[in-house]
Amino acid sequence: MRYAIAAILTAAALQAATITQADFGKMPDGAAIHIYTLSASGIRARISNYGGAIVSLEIPDKNGRMGDVVLGFDTLAEYIANPTQYFGATIGRYGNRIANGRFTLDGIEHILPKNNGANSLHGGDYGFFRRVFTPRMLPNGGLELTYLSKELEEGYPGHLHVTVTFHAVDGQGAGSPGALRIDYAATTDKDTVVNLTNHSYFNLKGAGSGDILDHLVTISARRFTPVDKTLIPTGELRNVAGTPFDFLQSTKIGARIGANDEQLKIAGGYDHNWVLENAGPTMHAAARVLEPTSGREMTVTTTEPGLQFYTGNFLDGSVKGKGGNVYARRGAFCMETQHFPDSPNHPKFPSTELKPGQRYQGTTIYSFAIPRGPAPQPAAKK
Ligand code: BGC
Repeated sequence: MRYAIAAILTAAALQAATITQADFGKMPDGAAIHIYTLSASGIRARISNYGGAIVSLEIPDKNGRMGDVVLGFDTLAEYIANPTQYFGATIGRYGNRIANGRFTLDGIEHILPKNNGANSLHGGDYGFFRRVFTPRMLPNGGLELTYLSKELEEGYPGHLHVTVTFHAVDGQGAGSPGALRIDYAATTDKDTVVNLTNHSYFNLKGAGSGDILDHLVTISARRFTPVDKTLIPTGELRNVAGTPFDFLQSTKIGARIGANDEQLKIAGGYDHNWVLENAGPTMHAAARVLEPTSGREMTVTTTEPGLQFYTGNFLDGSVKGKGGNVYARRGAFCMETQHFPDSPNHPKFPSTELKPGQRYQGTTIYSFAIPRGPAPQPAAKK
């Protein structure tokens, strides 16, 4: 699958972008938290410096009605009280799992908090999703969030300076409302590992409007990384051909999610890393998702080698989000662009090591479209 990479930060695309700031409450220690509204003509994103979280993301449907397509909470207090949903959060230092909460680097073993059974998930108990970033509104309408993760914070070596920059980017005319671009950068003063991502949960029908099983998904990957019972990659890169993990052709999420497949059973649905085609330091296709009733389509492009496609299997209706909406099981999906889970323990996976003097850099763009004409039909069941 190949498609054009839209929404590059050209001066023209940023022309109409604006940013405003409002209060979002206070941390228990009194620190003031803000929420920023980034707008371009067809897209509006609200982002907080608490957890670097995307709180809402509004784009038009086929009738031009704006709708919020990400899960989240209305108040800071709810974000603080519900950290382990990771709604919209910036994830670091390490997105996804590290087996047994340990890895060895330069001969030194590092011990991490085990916050997911025996494993360490999403940077530990107090990962970036619970941290306060320093915000700066950029003259071009972007938002820059910086954070210094100190030596041995959550067990990781080195002081890590992190910068995450968000831009709402204008679309390219009718049928292309706009994009949200996220740029990640980090430097360290000691050898360390780093894997940053964003944990937005999308429902293109609108957050809180039922499950996502009818969304049509295409993933630009011929292989995925199967997992053991604790969702740690076994190390194998398995061909998707003939499995429910083949999303090379546009396919409904629900078409095979209940199939009698060991990998789907382990995770209760999709919760796996796909090995993206054409991965390299430049932007490449990750995924495309179309929701036929609203007509909204999202395209994900990235510099990362992997994509964690997670179908909200652990949402269970116990959490009420924005506007009192209950977020049901499979009420949203995540497209977490990243390096592969547990890479520090898999020397054959693309490396997540960062050394002093190097700069970690990554970009992911979620761009939105309202494709013209009748919605494509799902692929025939295999
Ligand atoms: C992981 C899931 C986990 C979820 C938490 C995803 O990135 O792959 O296994 O339950 O985050 O919300």
